[in-house]
Amino acid sequence: MTGRVLVLGGTGEGRRLAEALVAEGVEVVSSLAGRVADPVLPAGEVRVGGFGGAAGLAAWLRAHPVAAVVDATHPFATTMTASAAEACAVTGHPLLRLQRPGWAEHPGDDWRWVDTLEEAAAAVQGFGSVFLTTGRQGLGAFAGLTARCLVRSVDPPAPPLPGRTTVVLARGPFTVEEELALLREHAVDVVVTKDSGGAMTAAKLTAARELGLPVVLVRRPPLPLGVPTVATVDDAVAWVLGR
Ligand code: NAP
Repeated sequence: MTGRVLVLGGTGEGRRLAEALVAEGVEVVSSLAGRVADPVLPAGEVRVGGFGGAAGLAAWLRAHPVAAVVDATHPFATTMTASAAEACAVTGHPLLRLQRPGWAEHPGDDWRWVDTLEEAAAAVQGFGSVFLTTGRQGLGAFAGLTARCLVRSVDPPAPPLPGRTTVVLARGPFTVEEELALLREHAVDVVVTKDSGGAMTAAKLTAARELGLPVVLVRRPPLPLGVPTVATVDDAVAWVLGR
């Protein structure tokens, strides 16, 4: 691989990919959305902020010497993923999607799958104490809930929020013991999460299983058509080095 690689990041995978590529002597520029006030920065060069849609990204790719793009954004960062597919189709840049596998159900789990945050809000009607781990964005979907809601996020969430919300500011990963303590402290009776996958935020699922709590999971949006996809950082490194 001769040229620079643009890594669309904001995830642990994005950071690990940048680190691995830099260690291989590949020039990397990582792109972050700029949502988190104090992000953990990846190795190599970093740029921050949106590109201005697919057209903006295409213009950026034409203006900067980049040989390939790896979209390592979060499984639910659908707009960025769609923009990357559209921009690279226009400019001809090779594009790889790096997306970790979703979570798998274990014996003892009580998982309830839904397609949207709105459906998740409907699925927790009737519960008294809801742990919302869906991230700071999209909490508006739960604004109508009258249950006690526990929200955990890296930066403070903006309104609209459910009326009886307790916010815990924290950055993962969390241990199962920490998750058990939090669920007990707030007498949580249902957990809501996106199917983000990965080990970083999986402890809450183990804790919910141990306490016999139901978990409402939001299904992942579909992958963009025609974009090669890998599930591991090692496979993404091999793709880059093989070009
Ligand atoms: P999104 O809805 O797909 O993105 C919205 C807009 O933010 C995009 O259209 C783009 O703006 C900008 N953007 C997103 N990711 C970017 C990146 N890596 N570099 C530059 N601009 C980016 O995504 P999101 O759900 O807001 O996620 C934003 C970031 O947080 C992503 O980097 C993602 O990996 C990370 N993240 C998301 C979640 C989640 O649950 N969604 C969870 C953890 C981390 P323009 O159109 O102006 O280019």
